[in-house]
Amino acid sequence: MLVVKNEEEIEKLRLSNLLVSKTLAELAKHIEPGVTTLKLDRIAEEYIRDHGAQPGFKGYDGFPNTLCTSVNSEVVHGIPSERNLENGDVVSIDCGVILDGYYGDTAYTFSVGQVNEEVRKLLKTTYESLIKGIENAVEGNRVGDIGNAVQTHSENSGFSVVRELVGHGIGRKLHEKPEVPNYGKRGRGVKLKSGFVICIEPMINLGRRNITQDPDGWTIRTRDGKVSAHYELALVVQREKADILSTFEYIEQVLKTKKEELPWQNSRL
Ligand code: MG
Ligand code: MG
Repeated sequence: MLVVKNEEEIEKLRLSNLLVSKTLAELAKHIEPGVTTLKLDRIAEEYIRDHGAQPGFKGYDGFPNTLCTSVNSEVVHGIPSERNLENGDVVSIDCGVILDGYYGDTAYTFSVGQVNEEVRKLLKTTYESLIKGIENAVEGNRVGDIGNAVQTHSENSGFSVVRELVGHGIGRKLHEKPEVPNYGKRGRGVKLKSGFVICIEPMINLGRRNITQDPDGWTIRTRDGKVSAHYELALVVQREKADILSTFEYIEQVLKTKKEELPWQNSRL
């Protein structure tokens, strides 16, 4: 069922998604060569519980942790471990919470130390494709318009789109209708209405689009072993312009104090 959220529900979703945004910013302070993804997971869980919420992913379909931490060729659903992040890695961190009965869900791909130019271009393009997707999340458009915008921008930049995993509606459940693929044709799919709350989350690969799943039953990685990036924001579809519920602003404030230059700093979008 496709559900239009009322004002009260939207405000609750805003709070839960803001908490995820702040949790990711808290992690940004700790992301550096040598840190383990399990340490990041503990920091996130404590931060979420200290703010009166529960981790949204822990126990979801049996997922063991608070964060999905996906390093380099891992696309999504990586399980935190004692692995040390190294200079030149990227780590995609996907975080969910439940606050007052409503889910928040947001993801960001962080650079660890200095990453190479090719990877920086992948991060920039993935971020830009998310923004282009959001620009299409307006009443009267269709889900295919979002997917087409993401796909066109990514593929025109020489990258490929993961198709097996998609964005989604969000509310009292983590995954609601509609599905929001990162590829598609203009004018196709579910028609968007004001009040739909959706997560757009491009997963873009440096090499080919094909993926495989690890024997752990969770980790999705690129088949060719090349790097993948993932950014996700939650938003409310509106008439003129989407109301974006989660934000990367807090993360970027932290990165600024660490003197990190954002890959899309000079983006002309
Ligand atoms: Mg997510
Ligand atoms: Mg999601």
